[in-house]
Amino acid sequence: MRRHRKVKIVATLGPASSTYDMIRKLHESGADVFRLNMSHGTHDELRERHRIIRQVEKDLDSPIGILADLQGPKLRVGVFANGEEELVAGESFRLDLDETPGTKDRVCLPHPEIFAALKPQTTLLVNDGKIRLTVDKYGKDFANCTVVTGGTISNRKGVNVPDVVLPLAALSDKDREDLEFACQLGVDWLALSFVQRPQDVEEARAFAAGRAAILSKIEKPAAVKAFEEILAVSDGIMVARGDLGVELPVQNVPPIQKRLVRECRKAAKPVIVATQMLESMIESPMPTRAEVSDVANAIYEGADAVMLSAESAAGQYPIEAVTTMDKVAIEVEDDPNYSVIISASRSVARNTVADSIVSAAREISEATEIRAICCFSQSGTTALLVARERPGVPIIALSPLIGTARRLALSWGVNCVLTSPVERFKMAVVGAVRAALTLGYAKEHDFVAVTAGVPFNVKGTTNILRVAPCDEKLIFNTDPE
Ligand code: PGA
Ligand code: MN
Repeated sequence: MRRHRKVKIVATLGPASSTYDMIRKLHESGADVFRLNMSHGTHDELRERHRIIRQVEKDLDSPIGILADLQGPKLRVGVFANGEEELVAGESFRLDLDETPGTKDRVCLPHPEIFAALKPQTTLLVNDGKIRLTVDKYGKDFANCTVVTGGTISNRKGVNVPDVVLPLAALSDKDREDLEFACQLGVDWLALSFVQRPQDVEEARAFAAGRAAILSKIEKPAAVKAFEEILAVSDGIMVARGDLGVELPVQNVPPIQKRLVRECRKAAKPVIVATQMLESMIESPMPTRAEVSDVANAIYEGADAVMLSAESAAGQYPIEAVTTMDKVAIEVEDDPNYSVIISASRSVARNTVADSIVSAAREISEATEIRAICCFSQSGTTALLVARERPGVPIIALSPLIGTARRLALSWGVNCVLTSPVERFKMAVVGAVRAALTLGYAKEHDFVAVTAGVPFNVKGTTNILRVAPCDEKLIFNTDPE
């Protein structure tokens, strides 16, 4: 699919978006990557959605990224005898390991590790942070709390413990099963929820064993603190503003978002801004002004992708939500101010041959009339470096590996094309020119820049830049090789 924007759109699939027609329409309207949320849905449902996405990909001849989002160590209370209870500020409430259904005075919290990690006055948040408890007295199997903010607590509501690095394994038993299931299905990205330490990422990477790229969701204060180290071992990042805004004061989220987006660009790794981007569109065909502004701001900041959660998974207007993001993106990217902001935030490090080559390609695109920067990329590294430059012209990434093409679907401005393997640079140039012409990015006699790393099968060797005419005869006549 030829897009008229650089930023990518991730759409979560769910009950509102599980048919072939819907998934195809979502892709045609602008969704570049589909997210399968492992917290909801059975393996059979996920397998069916995966099958449909691959069918759409084949029918439209357009590489599509699939991101499987693992639930992670999400903490939940047990059940209540009455289904729910009302907690009142100032009163006491006890959490323990007793599985007897809860009452207005107590409920089970079936996680012994939490009790072991508590400190006096630790804050516990229940039900998306709506209920706030502080710990007064605790032991290895209980915590007596004071209700600071009351509200309704009901069966299996989520619990957040923001102040403590929890001694929890990064992957629960369910996560390991889901990870293996997703890898066997063939997903391109695995998202890890509630990452706390870089070791969490390394553990998941070992299980994935090269079958999928690893994206860390930043949604814990501990992950914000250890962000540099986590980024270094991740292939991509999600600013998971939902849980982040529960675990930290909400006003801390925007500056963190800005910092994370900037750091990811510096590291040439894709970053998704996620959650509540068009929340009101779950029920309304029109977004609020504030939501439009939020999507626009994430794009001005230079995010690789913006994401829809319930809006596309369970809402009434999935297509309208994708279309809204698409239109906002086109408008922002058309604003002359956008390229000023994006250029001003470019990092200037030129430490390697690869850095210098992609930067030169971008400079050529600014100084001359080339129509696209084409990169031949096995692993995707060259394409990621070109994307980091945030050039004004389209980026066309050619790869003989479908996995690389699908993974790059998440990266800013990258149009992915599957090609046959090439052995000589001249063939790469011919392939790039053909792709630029076929996709309509260039016309006969236009010029494109082509970058690649030779030899082709060695990772991270971007070392050639050629400006080539979109004319096969000319390529052969003017190339000394
Ligand atoms: P979730 O993650 O939707 O899986 O909770 C995103 C977030 O917390 O923002
Ligand atoms: Mn979350």
